[in-house]
Amino acid sequence: MDGKLKCCICNNTDSKGIILLNEYICRKCELDMAKAPIHEPEYEKFRRGIRDIWKGFNRKYNKSIPGCN
Ligand SMILES: [Zn+2]
Repeated sequence: MDGKLKCCICNNTDSKGIILLNEYICRKCELDMAKAPIHEPEYEKFRRGIRDIWKGFNRKYNKSIPGCN
């Protein structure tokens, strides 16, 4: 492992971020996200990014989500 991953929001690569639902978010975006006020356009960008992650995640794991029936 080289430890470098590509951020799904800004496409930077680093190794200090977090994995959210199998997608990588770099340290910078993680921090930006944590401090972005809800009304800022920045926040919209992250929200969209996260929504895309969720979409991909749901597509991958759609088949059976435990606890739904
Ligand atoms: Zn990033």
